Amino acid sequence: MLKYTSFEIVFQEVPDEVTLAFSISNCPHRCINCHSAYLRDDVGIELTQLVITKLLDKYSGEVSCVCFMGGDANKDDLFDMASFVKQIGLRTAWYSGDNNISDDKFLSVFDYIKVGEYIEKLGGLKQKTTNQRLYKITDMQLEDMTYKFWEHI
Ligand code: SF4
Repeated sequence: MLKYTSFEIVFQEVPDEVTLAFSISNCPHRCINCHSAYLRDDVGIELTQLVITKLLDKYSGEVSCVCFMGGDANKDDLFDMASFVKQIGLRTAWYSGDNNISDDKFLSVFDYIKVGEYIEKLGGLKQKTTNQRLYKITDMQLEDMTYKFWEHI
C-alpha cells in the first residue's frame, strides 16, 4: 500500500510538465540530514486510484504528469499505480531515493525517474554539484535531463 502525506501542483520538479506530485511516506532510506524526515514513518492516507481520479477531475486539463515522490518501500504498488496513470493518458514520474533504477520494468511505466540519495554537501537537483539525476525515458532508453534544472543558474 502507498500512503501520501500531501499533494500539490508543481512546475519545476519535472521540467516542461505541470505535475500533480504526491509525497509518499514510509521511505526506507536513511540519508544523513534528510530534508523530510517525517516521510520515513508509515503515515498518511492510502493513495488509491480513486484519490488520483478525483484529483485529476478537479484539475481537469491542467495536469500533464503525475509524480510519486518516494514509494521505494512498495515498488509493486508503485508500478501498479504508475500503470494506472499511464492508462489514463498522462505522463508519470518517480522521485526515488535509490542510487540506481532497480528493475528495467519501471522504464515501461515511467516517463521520468529521478535517482540518487540525498547528500547534503552535494545538494539537490538544482545544484550543479548534485549526485542526483533526473532521466527522461523514451522507448526504454534513458536521457539525462538534470541539466534542465541548471538553465537559470
Ligand atoms: S530518500 Fe528523501 S525522504 Fe528518504 S531518507 Fe533520503 S532524503 Fe529523506
